[in-house]
Amino acid sequence: MPITPFHFGPGAALHAIAPRQVSFLAFCAANVVIDVESLYNLVQGRQPVHAFLHTYIGASLVALALVLAFSGARRAGLAWLPGLTLRRVAIGALLGAWTHVLLDSVMHADIRPLLPWSAGNELWRVVSLAVLHGGCVAAGLLALVVHGARRLTAARS
Ligand SMILES: [Zn+2]
Repeated sequence: MPITPFHFGPGAALHAIAPRQVSFLAFCAANVVIDVESLYNLVQGRQPVHAFLHTYIGASLVALALVLAFSGARRAGLAWLPGLTLRRVAIGALLGAWTHVLLDSVMHADIRPLLPWSAGNELWRVVSLAVLHGGCVAAGLLALVVHGARRLTAARS
């Protein structure tokens, strides 16, 4: 399914663990941009649905494009979000891109994440979809717990 919210759970957890290093916004943006490919291929009836942007090379290029777009927007005075540094955007976009390919590798039979070096995908169904989705939800819940604990600690001090 294109642009599944399950991808955001691990991103929320990574952001909760390292909020000053990981931009959740960039993480989500990378995930959405990568799945524009699968949405387009689904609508056009093209196979494989998960193609170049669902390889580690393609996903890394998506992250690079997001970093360049953010850098350009910042130079043009359009990046107004406080605390959103180029480093945070780069780390968030790369983690978003790579975890997207990783999770989709478990889920989808048509993905070839290691092209052009290998057409194989050793991760397909390495765990059940219930475990995969449960792990993503658990990561999102962990993020809420960490975020809540951090707010409580800040409020007390
Ligand atoms: Zn995908």
